[in-house]
Amino acid sequence: MWISDIHGHLSPAAALEYFDLWCHLQVIVLSQEPDTISWRWTENGTYSASSCYNALFTGSTSSKHWRLIWKSGAPLSVKFFLYLASVNRCWTTDRLERRGLPHEPACVLCSQHDEALHHLLIGCVFSCIIWHGILSWCCPEIPVPDGTLDFLRWLSSALDTIAMEKRRGLSTIAALTAWSLWRHRNAVIFDKIAPSSASLLMVIKDDARSWAYAGAKGLSNIILVV
Ligand SMILES: [Zn+2]
Repeated sequence: MWISDIHGHLSPAAALEYFDLWCHLQVIVLSQEPDTISWRWTENGTYSASSCYNALFTGSTSSKHWRLIWKSGAPLSVKFFLYLASVNRCWTTDRLERRGLPHEPACVLCSQHDEALHHLLIGCVFSCIIWHGILSWCCPEIPVPDGTLDFLRWLSSALDTIAMEKRRGLSTIAALTAWSLWRHRNAVIFDKIAPSSASLLMVIKDDARSWAYAGAKGLSNIILVV
C-alpha cells in the first residue's frame, strides 16, 4: 500500500490510519515516572514460568479424544499417527486430489472405493477383515466396526462396553491395528507389494506380542504373551 504521493500528500487509507492512531494517543497521559517492563500474563505483571507455560496454550483447542490417543500403550510414533488421523491430516487420496497432487485412482486395499481416511481405517472391506481377525483374537466381545462411526468414536464406544482391566489393552491394540493398516497401504503404494490380509494379520499379532513383551501396559491382559 502506498502511504503518500510524490507531493507528500497522505493517501485516504494512510489518513484514516493516522486519524485512528491520533484517537488512540489522545487518552495516553505521559508522566515523569521511568518506564517499567510488565509481564502481561500475570495479574501483578511479574513473570513466572507457569504463566509462560499456560500462555503457550492460549487460543488452542483440545480434542475430546486426546486420552484415547496419548494414554494408549502404543509407541510415540503410533500416537502421532493417530493424532494426525484425528485431525484428518494423513495424505490419503481425497486429500492429495484436493491439493492437485499425484494419487491412486481408488483405495489400493480394495480397488472398489475412493480412498479417504475413514474408509481406510474402518470402512474398507479389507480393513473389516483385519478388524475381525484382530478383535476375534484378543477382544471377541467387541463387535467389528461397521463404518457408521469414525475410528476414534468407534474406539471410544467400544471402551465403554469392555471390562475395565481390558481397556488399556484394547486401546493399544486398536492403535496398532489402525497404524498397521496405514503402513500396509503405504507399502502397497510405495513398495508395490500386493495387499494381503493374512500377512498383515500375522504382522499385527507379532507386533502386539513384541509390544507386550516390551512392557506395553494392558496388552498382556488381552493377549497371550509367551
Ligand atoms: Zn478400500
